Amino acid sequence: MKKLSFTLLMALCGVSAFAQDFSDKITLVIHGGAGTITRANMSPEREKAYREGLDLALQKGYEVLKKGGTSVQAVEAAIHVMEDSPLFNAGKGAVFTNEGKNELDAAIMEGKTLKAGAVAGVTTIKNPISAAIAVMDQSVHVMMAGRGAEQFAKEKGLEIVDPSYFYTEARYKALERAKAQEKTELDHNAKEENGGKEKREEGKVKTAPKTGFKSVEDLIFTEGKKFGTVGCVALDKYGNLAAGTSTGGMTNKRYGRIGDAPIIGAGTYANNATCAVSATGHGEYFIRSVVAHDISALMEYKGMSLADAANEVVMKKLVERGGEGGVIAVDRNGNVAMPFNSEGMYRGYIKSDGKREILIYKD
Ligand code: ASP
Repeated sequence: MKKLSFTLLMALCGVSAFAQDFSDKITLVIHGGAGTITRANMSPEREKAYREGLDLALQKGYEVLKKGGTSVQAVEAAIHVMEDSPLFNAGKGAVFTNEGKNELDAAIMEGKTLKAGAVAGVTTIKNPISAAIAVMDQSVHVMMAGRGAEQFAKEKGLEIVDPSYFYTEARYKALERAKAQEKTELDHNAKEENGGKEKREEGKVKTAPKTGFKSVEDLIFTEGKKFGTVGCVALDKYGNLAAGTSTGGMTNKRYGRIGDAPIIGAGTYANNATCAVSATGHGEYFIRSVVAHDISALMEYKGMSLADAANEVVMKKLVERGGEGGVIAVDRNGNVAMPFNSEGMYRGYIKSDGKREILIYKD
């Protein structure tokens, strides 16, 4: 009996003695979308607004980590800021479907347990990332869609809003513009197909022409491709990784289209053995390339570093396939990677000492 209690005591001491403290490694990385974001099409006011939004998200997520919160809690806090801001294509300010609705997708994954949760095509949940977390923590499922997901969120006490809450004039105008451009775009594609031309040239992803800004609406929307999904990856003081992504998807999407964001392994993935990844870009390509999991797999099976694995997938594989966008990623040592093959990506990170950086352009 004595021997048994001694062994038990040692085992308990062992747990605490060996439980590594990652306090000096805590890291939080965010993105607010990628696409045609260049200095030429950015006004000082617009840049300031985005920088402030990103900074607040970093700060809120960091506060959680500093206070000893988990990486999942930090990801939720950072994403709430961006979901609540009309600047980003998630929550309030989400893009419109072809039918003029806002249909939102979100996912969360926890690297320690490999548990995950996602919601897709929801129209009344104020903060879809919280619904994804509820699916992960309070259900036996991984993904819920549409009305069922909304019912579940309501039962779990999450904030439900009228669909009109998500409306912003700027995004609605973006839909109108996209619809007006549709014929031209289709004609253009048809020409390319008939001529047998590749959509990509010299390994670069083609982007639509840019225009300047004229109004307050243009603070948010620029002509051309812009993916405003938001995401966050974090490493907490317990050494656990988490990844979360939230989006309105793509302007003018149809027929209940779901993007990569809520698909575990495509737009969102976390595994303590490798890394946590959140993506933004043309979802169809990210789904087919299983982008987030591919980065993790390159680390796991090929022993690649985070930076090499993320570059291989975003700057080589995706580019070859014509998939525009980028990712943010963090590994268990707090290494950060933020590659993108578009012209810009709203992104930033904050480290344990509070040092932060916010970046927008390629250069
Ligand atoms: N990846 C998102 C989607 O395809 C779009 C984005 O990143 O803004 O739904």
